[in-house]
Amino acid sequence: MKIETFEMKAIVIGAGFGGIAAALRLRAKGYEVSLIDRCAGLGGRAQVFERDGFKHDAGPTVITAPFLFDELFALFGEKFKDHVQLVPLTPWYRFHFPDNTQFDYGGTLEQTLAEIARIEPADCDGYRSLLVQSEKIFKVGFVQLSAEPFHRFFTMLRQIPALLRLRCQDTVWQLVSRHLKNPKLRQAFSIQPLLVGGNPFDTTSIYGLIHYLERAHGVHFAMGGTAAITEALGALMTRQGINVQLNTTVRRIDIDDGIASGVTLENGSSIAADVIVSNADPAHLYSAMIRPEDQAPSARLKLATAEFSMGLFVLYFGTTRQYPGVAHHTIWLGERYRELLADIFDHKELSEDFSLYLHRPTATDASFAPAGCDSFYVLCPVPNLQGAIDWAVQGPRLQARIVAALAATILPGLDDSITSDFVMTPENFRSDYLSAYGAGFSVAPLFRQSAWFRFHNRAEGIRNLYLVGAGTHPGAGLPGVLCSAKVVDALVPPAQVAAQLAARHYPTPALESADLVLSRKGKSFHWARRWMATAHAASATRLYGFCRYVDDIADEGMVGLDPRTALGLIAQEITCGESPNPKVADMISLMREGNIPPELMLTFIDGITSDLDTVLVADEGTLLRYCYQAAGTVGAMMCRVLGCDDPVALRHAVDLGIAMQLTNICRDVSDDARAGRRYLPASIVGELAPQALIKPEPAFQPQLRACIEQLLNTADRYYRSGEAGLAHLPFGSRCSILVAARVYRAIGTQLRCNNHAYWLGRTVVQRRTKMLVTAQALTVSPLFPRFWIPAGQHDAALHDAISVYQGS
Ligand SMILES: Cc1cc2nc3c(=O)[nH]c(=O)nc-3n(C[C@H](O)[C@H](O)[C@H](O)COP(=O)(O)OP(=O)(O)OC[C@H]3O[C@@H](n4cnc5c(N)ncnc54)[C@H](O)[C@@H]3O)c2cc1C
Repeated sequence: MKIETFEMKAIVIGAGFGGIAAALRLRAKGYEVSLIDRCAGLGGRAQVFERDGFKHDAGPTVITAPFLFDELFALFGEKFKDHVQLVPLTPWYRFHFPDNTQFDYGGTLEQTLAEIARIEPADCDGYRSLLVQSEKIFKVGFVQLSAEPFHRFFTMLRQIPALLRLRCQDTVWQLVSRHLKNPKLRQAFSIQPLLVGGNPFDTTSIYGLIHYLERAHGVHFAMGGTAAITEALGALMTRQGINVQLNTTVRRIDIDDGIASGVTLENGSSIAADVIVSNADPAHLYSAMIRPEDQAPSARLKLATAEFSMGLFVLYFGTTRQYPGVAHHTIWLGERYRELLADIFDHKELSEDFSLYLHRPTATDASFAPAGCDSFYVLCPVPNLQGAIDWAVQGPRLQARIVAALAATILPGLDDSITSDFVMTPENFRSDYLSAYGAGFSVAPLFRQSAWFRFHNRAEGIRNLYLVGAGTHPGAGLPGVLCSAKVVDALVPPAQVAAQLAARHYPTPALESADLVLSRKGKSFHWARRWMATAHAASATRLYGFCRYVDDIADEGMVGLDPRTALGLIAQEITCGESPNPKVADMISLMREGNIPPELMLTFIDGITSDLDTVLVADEGTLLRYCYQAAGTVGAMMCRVLGCDDPVALRHAVDLGIAMQLTNICRDVSDDARAGRRYLPASIVGELAPQALIKPEPAFQPQLRACIEQLLNTADRYYRSGEAGLAHLPFGSRCSILVAARVYRAIGTQLRCNNHAYWLGRTVVQRRTKMLVTAQALTVSPLFPRFWIPAGQHDAALHDAISVYQGS
């Protein structure tokens, strides 16, 4: 399938699996993509080594979530299985214990249970219950969260109850020990974190999802090795015109004014780009490739406090004979477990003993070694370079100990048959892959380094820069890094949209610019949006941001057009359903997505346009009609954007908008008066000129105070009606809207506390109060509203709203 290309350039730094997946995903979005890596081959840690006819996958060998590869090929209308042959393995792993007993894990559930029964019959039920729990964790940790952007703290906050319910603050060891009693089985079923760089005694039990992942999707080997997958992805990139530059190191990210604009290579040349994705180790990225002053404090803090995964000592070798009794994947366990892990992770000491993972690809694919021979690698977890180990001295010693141990157990005669051997130590991981402290898997998979606490997929403090790979959310391992590219896919706009925006000199896409504007000018909304379900937050921001944009045009006009003409033009474009202005175009598409009638937006624009005249409101009815135009419409549109079409809910939403606008009016009397606008109805305050309201004479103050109180009382009725409508909203949005309503209402309360003296300065809600009303709102929102609103109390306001709505 041919993908259309737009003139938007993306650079991906690092051709690990995360980088390759990101490059393909950006290509599918229409970017011109260049992929740069310092290694000689694609794949990052999944390099391929060939020596004397022996082939070795340097890193990953266990393929557990093949559907993630299917997804990459499907982006281009192709099928993964047409390019790579995956074979399911049985057993998945063979465990070899120090007493020379073995346990084969994998195959069907019955096969696994039979093996468990051989060791500890009582643990069969425990394994079943472990699987049930693992599935629950999988449904949250993998299905819901692995591709969810976590750069907002409140995304994390929202997930905490679910994570606590699943006891994800527990470690993998605790999870397994709750279900299994036998010490051997506890080891076998808790060892998986080591495959992503974590100590099972510290790693969050989210990683317990691996049991279900393996059971549901199998454990596979790619014929030809992981290298066959890398080659297939490389060929796909060539077919899609991705430019791959190997043996090239990026020295730094070029950043202007907080915006990443390109990269500078080691040779000094620069390459410009619109989007940059880094697959480098985030600790290296933030410490060596970005100046500290360009980073957000959060990134610097994470860098300073990060705990890293362990190092790896990997011995690659061939044998001049074959070992047919050795499984494809063997976990060879030593005498000590917890103590050994403490030496590696906590004390950072190289112990005399070890546990090993042994890979024998020739068990499945004879092409890895010359005829009659076997190819192996053995991986030994060791301290990373934070420990003071002289690898030039200790490497050969450790190698000798490992060979002796294997020769004495599962590879008899190894001392004589070993050939073409070579090693990688943590020092090679540092020099070859620029891995901080030579760690095998970047930052460790601890609960306090997960999700929001991990390095974000959107760079912290820098626009247009994104992160994928083991050190970012969700974490290490091939499934993790492939998912990190899905997160970035969700964050980067399609090239076509980005190109349109760039051509019209709109520096940021509608959503991002709306977000930026709202963080300064729509603080209550910005605050409340944190509690909104992600599915709706972006649309709500686009809508609210557009309304602020229209409001700003009323104040400032638009590229050479006076405000009235500019607003007229926007109204015309909304009516036609087409606009060259990307912000209006975005709103038009949002209106289509949300089934929003254009009349609502046109009425809103009318309301804003009416502000351009001198405003002298005659009575409360006129004021309510104006509030409906300028804000009730926004409430109704928001309701649609939040996925609610119920006409009753729409009317309540109109009421909430009206209530908020009345609050605004009470707060901003002086500002409006300076602009020649008096919204306080003449029927209450008399025919006062706007100027008289800025700093009113003491004689007028009592009637102004009374007027403000009357309007706040009206607002309260509308708030009650607005809140009563919350029951109609999806649960995930209800909290957020209630927070917005309560924070706004607190402005009125504050104004009352100030004895209604708006002229003494702009009324603001103190942060403490804001937190308090927010906490209250979050507490009551799940019960909302029937428990809270006395029956019938909102009806009067609703009735008023309907009559305003209908223009009567
Ligand atoms: C020995 C070993 C065995 C493993 N086994 C398994 C397994 O069986 N199954 C599994 O799922 N996972 C396994 N893993 C983990 C898995 O391989 C990794 O988590 C994953 O491959 C990391 O991918 P990544 O996208 O983070 O990129 P990486 O593989 O880390 O690649 C990043 C690339 O970026 C390059 N780079 C960095 N900085 C720059 C720069 N400034 N300029 C240019 N290039 C740069 C690096 O050189 C590297 O090539 C294993 C890991 C190891 C080390």
